[in-house]
Amino acid sequence: MNTDKSVILFERAKKVIPGGVNSPVRAFQAVGGQPLFIKKAEGAYLYDEDGNRYIDCINSWGPMILGHAYAPVLEAIQRAAADSPSFGAPTRLEVEMAELIVSMVPSVEMVRMVNSGTEATMSAIRLARGYTGRHKIIKFEGCYHGHGDSFLIAAGSGAATTGAPNSPGVTPGTAQDTLIAPYNDLQAVEALIAQYPEQIAAIIVEPVAGNMGCVLPKPGYLQGLRDLCDKHGIVLIFDEVMTGFRLAPGGAQERFGVFPDLTTLGKIIGGGMPVGAYGGKREIMEKVSPSGKVYQAGTLSGNPVAMAAGLAILRELRENSAIYARLESIGDKLYKGMKGELEKRGLHYTMNKIGSMLNVFFTEQTVYDFTTAKSCDLQLFAKYFQAMLRRGVYLAPSQFESWFCSAALSEEDIQHIIQAHADALDEIINQ
Ligand code: PMP
Repeated sequence: MNTDKSVILFERAKKVIPGGVNSPVRAFQAVGGQPLFIKKAEGAYLYDEDGNRYIDCINSWGPMILGHAYAPVLEAIQRAAADSPSFGAPTRLEVEMAELIVSMVPSVEMVRMVNSGTEATMSAIRLARGYTGRHKIIKFEGCYHGHGDSFLIAAGSGAATTGAPNSPGVTPGTAQDTLIAPYNDLQAVEALIAQYPEQIAAIIVEPVAGNMGCVLPKPGYLQGLRDLCDKHGIVLIFDEVMTGFRLAPGGAQERFGVFPDLTTLGKIIGGGMPVGAYGGKREIMEKVSPSGKVYQAGTLSGNPVAMAAGLAILRELRENSAIYARLESIGDKLYKGMKGELEKRGLHYTMNKIGSMLNVFFTEQTVYDFTTAKSCDLQLFAKYFQAMLRRGVYLAPSQFESWFCSAALSEEDIQHIIQAHADALDEIINQ
């Protein structure tokens, strides 16, 4: 595989961009080698600067759920851009977007658009604090909620991958207001609530964690959090930046039938443009400025080009239920096929899966929290990643990330991935 052009671009990038990348998760730090520079993408495939083709199993970390360069999204972007990319004034598209989100996400009665998942979560906890008059929040080890200061404590995703789950630059004052509990452990949450009575404003959780690999909530866990929040006047925030519109049209909350007070959204909601949103109960959302006193703003928030792209994708997801059946079937086929190849070889590595999110953990332990996720053999993962890449399958360059499949994968692509997995296992296990 010739990647000369990527090599040259990375050399140039390192001189002018920290680490040569604009987001740490893109660096190949944990897997060795260097990132590929992507030139274009179409459907299920990425093409790098040297013209190599890869089947994409990350899909821009989630947004490209219907595949790359999806025609209705491209048309919507072009149409909106022709009317000028930004006005900084209200538009019809924003109203349509808000109405669409409220119609799709069960617990959302009002919604505010922002420009990233990070902004959504930062705003949601400020709102929860303003609403309750309390300061502390509970987050879970290995969950990632963007790079807001309050969340860079025991964070997953790139923070876990680069070994910096607690970032320098976060003040002790901020850090002390973030309480940490292991994922899937209700007793730990109860203990924190007992330790800090009437001080906890919010519990923020990924209803399915995707930032320590794919980790599912145990039966009753989400409802248990809901009950604790109700009992103690705590705002429950589901961070559905990854799961929103992916696990069901109404996200994980629809799938599990547990409804938070606030929901944060991102990724798919922008169809590949930089968009986030937070929404929830009217009573809480009305506290946001200018109807309330909790301040939050954005020059480019609700940007018309981004709204047009998001609307095009969300409308498709709402109107075409066959898409979710397809995503489920893709997830099932990959899971069964890949698990079968592990079993054939007598390998007992764990695979977790829900809908179109899944991944292989190179550990024999059941993975249900960050401690069990960290029991993985990271060197083996790195070899697996490279072996898959050589076979034209593009995975997230970290053990602590989920795969995000797109509906654009064909039967042939699925078989290619399973075969690549089988061959990669033979290569790395016999090494
Ligand atoms: N929350 C979750 C659950 C995420 O996975 C991410 C990003 N991967 C974020 C928040 C932050 O979103 P962004 O990168 O758009 O700021």
